[in-house]
This record gives sequence, structure tokens and C-alpha cells, in this order.
Amino acid sequence: MRLSVRDLVRFFAALSACTVTLIAAACTEPRSTSAQTPAPAVVAQTNSATRFASTAPSASTALSASTALATGASPSAGPALSASTAPSAGTAPSASTAPSAGPVPSANATPSRPHRNIIIFVADGLRHDSVNAVDAPTLFSLRKRGVHFINSHSLYPTLTTPNASAIATGHYLGDTGDFSNTEYAGYPTFNHGDFGKSAGTPTAFLENDPALADLDAHVPSGNFLNEESLLALARQHGFNTAAIGKLGPVAVQDVSQLNPTDHHFPTPQTVILDDSTGSDSGIPLALEVRSALVAAGLGTRPTTRDQPTGTVSVPGTMAANIGQQKWFADAATQAVLPLFARNGRPFVLVFWSRDPDGTQHNHGDSLNELQPGINGPTSRAAVANADANLKQLLDYVDAEPTLRASTDIFVTSDHGFATISKHEIDGRGHGSTSYPTRFTYLGADGKPDVHPGWLPPGFLAIDLAHLLGLALFDPDIQIAPAGAGPQGEGNASGRYLPIDPTKPNSKTSRQHSATGNGLLGGTGVIQDHIDARVIVTAGGGTDLIYIPDHDRALAQRVVDFLSRQDYTGALFVDSAFGSIPGALPMNAIALEGTAVMPRPSIVVSFKSFLLKQGDLLSAVQVSDTLLQEGQGMHGGFGREATFNNMVAIGPDFKQAFTDPLPVSNADVAPTLAHILGLQLPSVGNLQGRVLEEALPGEARGTDPVRHRSLISPATATGKATRLLYQELHGRHYFDSAALTDSKPAKAKAAR
Ligand SMILES: [Zn+2]
Repeated sequence: MRLSVRDLVRFFAALSACTVTLIAAACTEPRSTSAQTPAPAVVAQTNSATRFASTAPSASTALSASTALATGASPSAGPALSASTAPSAGTAPSASTAPSAGPVPSANATPSRPHRNIIIFVADGLRHDSVNAVDAPTLFSLRKRGVHFINSHSLYPTLTTPNASAIATGHYLGDTGDFSNTEYAGYPTFNHGDFGKSAGTPTAFLENDPALADLDAHVPSGNFLNEESLLALARQHGFNTAAIGKLGPVAVQDVSQLNPTDHHFPTPQTVILDDSTGSDSGIPLALEVRSALVAAGLGTRPTTRDQPTGTVSVPGTMAANIGQQKWFADAATQAVLPLFARNGRPFVLVFWSRDPDGTQHNHGDSLNELQPGINGPTSRAAVANADANLKQLLDYVDAEPTLRASTDIFVTSDHGFATISKHEIDGRGHGSTSYPTRFTYLGADGKPDVHPGWLPPGFLAIDLAHLLGLALFDPDIQIAPAGAGPQGEGNASGRYLPIDPTKPNSKTSRQHSATGNGLLGGTGVIQDHIDARVIVTAGGGTDLIYIPDHDRALAQRVVDFLSRQDYTGALFVDSAFGSIPGALPMNAIALEGTAVMPRPSIVVSFKSFLLKQGDLLSAVQVSDTLLQEGQGMHGGFGREATFNNMVAIGPDFKQAFTDPLPVSNADVAPTLAHILGLQLPSVGNLQGRVLEEALPGEARGTDPVRHRSLISPATATGKATRLLYQELHGRHYFDSAALTDSKPAKAKAAR
């Protein structure tokens, strides 16, 4: 989730007389290791090896493919993409837009392949089981007519920008270094003056274009992800490229295009349209793109998103993000794609629908109640909204037979979702009794801004500061001591705001942090050298813990403590610490690779559970968030979070094919690069695979899938983290992880 400015203003209104400055974010500290697969002191088990004969589609679903051919194109052009193929007048490309025409630069490495266009459509936070004929008729239809991946995976942590980095590059997070939407930079972002800003938070929030650019600026290569993206590769090979939609994951698709020139954005070659387009913090548009938007009557600023977050006493939004997303879909089909058609070169387009994620986070259907949670009418409307955007894109493609015959569509979602718990730790209604629940947290109006006895935002940082006896600071809020010059200048006298739940709110102290992040220990002084002993970044279902001096004893103490907390779901530690009871090594989940961003020392997922056994839609996630119980969150390690939504259709994919093999967001770019005949260069080796089984004539067909589990050494109290995953072609697909109470000897026989 992301706080709106309005939220922050409200939250800190009481401090307005004081010297408070909100900090944006960004950052790096080179450090790399590389290890492909885990093999520490853990017990691995093969539970079963399932053989999949290449699953032929049933006759009935195969037939349904041909029934959709409604545009009169020859069957060899492939099935119509949209269920309803009626072209919307005025948006169809002209017949002269055959992608094969036009000046494809000689760098194009696809001489032996026909020209192909690619659309990657990401429905943010769309759960696999949310798709049905009523709420998502387009996707429901695609599942039947294209390839339906019924064993798909988000990468853990199941958060947006990490999965955006995987979708973009085809690498796991240990290589991309995008470990969470908010991650520790190693320095105060903007400390070199990018965008005219002063030094800000060391906990960078990545759904922010200047923050992404500042991260790039701190890396010699100008690309903080340290891996080439599909969009960048296609751009270099002469394709038209565009990324349109949600702020953050959109720019991640070709993030080196943001690397600042003279501390400001250059004008990128890739068309990047997001929430910030046209604003002071927006990425510039090339003149021809601006002209195309204006000519289409859209202007150069997206419709404003209006979805109130709500509070502990006021429900959030009751409407999906329809207006803003309609602008993006119109921009794609009425300006950008027609522009591409006019210049005649093939294209790769990423369209990132904020819905259903944004609406599921903020909806007001279920304030302080676990039911209906994110299964109410507002969240369902958001699923329908994403589906409508997809339909609009498919209608555009379907309207032109040549375009349809040359365009592959890959639909995915970055992660699953769950209903937020800020109290219950299981389906029987037991509540957390951890230390942070003991206080009454008051907001700016003097009334509780957290339900009394429930978990506040930043509860993990509060708990760990208490455990370790360290001072706690909010990295996202700055104060300057009285008489110390102008506010928020990032000068040496500035400090991050102290946090203390035991003290009443004042100008110089708050009970909980703004977004959950925390600096533990040190002086709180804003300086290039961060002197905190421990840094916590809050990510909803998963928080990251950084220990810059790599103190093993401290790491072990924290892990042992967390293994005994009622909110903890699973624990992972940097393998450089060696074996630590209770936690699995981070290399077991592909978080250790060639990343240039600082690697967390400990990754904590919070507990999740199902209200109804077997129904992932009933999942509840304990969350470190400013949002309320009953709203929505993700980031954790239950299957409800890792089970995303993946479908593909087009001339290079099988028709009416159900793929039972494990697939993940890291497999998208390798597969599409393969289709385009392009070779993705690679720094690290934590790569996804080409989904050959989904491509006609390329399936290996009978490779075994191994279902495995991995369990950590147990603590003295018998706590161990157990990971369930699948293995195929040397890749690991992570299903879920959770703490168990099993003694080590017993755990061996588990699952
Ligand atoms: Zn997301």
C-alpha cells in the first residue's frame, strides 16, 4: 500500500507547527554473493514426483476456441483475443499498420521469426480464484481459449515492485535486489541532490519515480536492478516500447530510462505513463507522445485517482479505480498504440492495472471485520475494472486481423491477496498479545487511531526496539531541533522523528511511525552514514530487517524472539550468518544472488490463515500497515499470496491448453524473449525458464515435478520454519512457508 499525501497530512497534523518534513525515498550498498541453490543445515524431502503427460486440452475447451473466431480472419491468425470482438469505432488501427512494414533497425535479432508484438497485462493483486464469468468475463474466456496456468506463482515477498522486477527481467529477487516495495538503501535517498531534493529517508519507497531514479543514480550502471529488462532489450532492438499504468511497477519495466541527467529525468525512449505523468514529479514524454495524447483528446495528465483510505472509524473507498484506469486504457488504445502503428515497428507494451490491488487495499466494505473482507462488492468491482481494461486492449488488437495474427498477450498478476488482520492470529479468533498491543495509540485528534489492543503500524519495529533496548526513529519524518534552522533541510542538525509508544504524542515524539518503517539505535541524525544498529522496513505481510554490521549474535537473538511471537508466520536469515535455529537461509528462497542493493539480514513473514479450509479467498493476513482490519493486504507466504493469475494467448501459444506445471513471474520475460528471438543478457543466474510446454511444438511434456519441503533447525522451544516448494528443470517454485511447532525429529515426517 501507499499512503496518500492526505493520509500523511492528517496523521501529522498535530506536528504542523513543528519542523516536520516528509521524506520521499531511495538507495545502495554494493554487496553480492551468488549461490544458485540452497544447501545449508536443513532437511530436504522429496514428497512426491508427479509426472505430467502433456495435458491435452479437452475436446470441449478446444472447440470453444474456434467459436470465438468472429472477425472473419483466417483461422491461421489464431483465436480472437477478446470474447467480444466488436471493434470500438475510432480506435482500430488502420489497415496500413501491418507490423511487418516499416523500418526495423538492423539490430533486430529476429530475422528467422515473423514479427511479433507483445502485450503484458498485469492485474495487480488479482487472485487466481477471483476470476469468474461474472466478475471477469474476459479473463474467464481467455483461460478457456488460451493457455491457463493453473499452478502459477508470485515470488516471495509477494509484493508489487519485487514481482515487477521479476516480470521485467526474468530474474528472481536475489538478482534484482528489489526485495520489497520499501527497502533499505544504505544512505539517505536524494542525498546527492537529485530533483533538487535534500537528503531523505534511507528506507526507499519504490512506487515513486524520483525514488527509482535516485536508486539508479547511486549505481555505476545506472540500473539498480542490475539486470536487463525485456522492455529495454526490445527497445534496443528497434521495437516500440511502452509501460502504462500504476506508478512504480510501470517504471520498473525499463528503469534505467529514469537514470537522472543533471539530477533530473531524461526524456525516455520508452513511453512511460503513470499516475505522476504530467506532474512536477512525472517522467517526461517525448513530443510525439504528447501530441498523440492531445490529439486523442486525453490531455497529458491522467484522471486523478480518488479512493480514500479511510481510518479506524471511517470506512475507505466504496468505488473501484475506474476513471483513472480508463484514462490509461484510452491512452494505450487511442494514442500510444496508434502512434506505434503509424511508425510501423513492432511493439512491446506493459499495461499495469492498479486494480484490483488498490481497491482491495482501501475498500470500505468491511471496516474492522474479517468478513466479507476483500470479497465484498467494492473489491469485486475492482476485478471487473481490470477485466474491462484488458478487454479494451484486446478489442483494439482484435479489430485488425494482421495485428491480431502477430500479437501475443501474456496476462499475470504480481501477487495474491488476503484480508487484513490487526488482531486475530488464527481462525478461532485468538488475538495477538504481543508487547505493541498494550498501548492506546492516539491520533492527531486525540482519539485512538488504532483499535485499542490491536497491532499498530510499525509494530515489528516497536517490538524489536523494546527487545533490544534501542531508541526508535521514524525514517520517513524529519524534525529539526528548536533553533536549528529551516525545517527538513537534511542538514547535519536534522533528525528523524523519535518513536516511543509509552509517551504521549508531542512535537518531538510519536507513538508509532508513519508507515511502519524504523531505525533502531544510533543517533537518528540525518547523515550519509546511517548509524542505526537495525533497520526495519514494513511491507504489510512481510517486513525486512537489516543489520548493517552483520552482528550474528544480534541476528540470532532477533530470530529466537520472533519465533516466539504470536504474529510471526515464517523466518529467513542471510546465509552468511550460518545456521540459525528457527529460520531458513534466504538462499532457500532465491533471495541471495548478484543484487547490488543491500540484502536484508532477516525476512519476517506474518501469520496468515484461512477462515474456511480449502478456500484461498477466505485468507486472512496479519499485517504491518496503516490500513485497517478488514481491508486488504499481501506480502506474506501463504499460498493465497503466492497463487497469482497467469494466462497467455496469441499466435505463439497453444490454444485451449491447461498448463499444470509450476510457473512464476520470473518465467514471463524469458518466454517472451524466446518468442521474439531475443537473448536476455544476464548478470546473475537466478533466472526463470522458457515455458516450453505452453508453446506449440516445443513441449518437453513429461518432465517430473517434484514437490518438496525444507525445514529449518528448531529452536529450543521447538519452533522451525518449513517451506513447501516445487522443483522443475532446476527451478524452484515457492508455494508457502510457515513456522511449525514440530520438534526436529517429528518435522522430518511432515507433509
Ligand atoms: Zn501489487
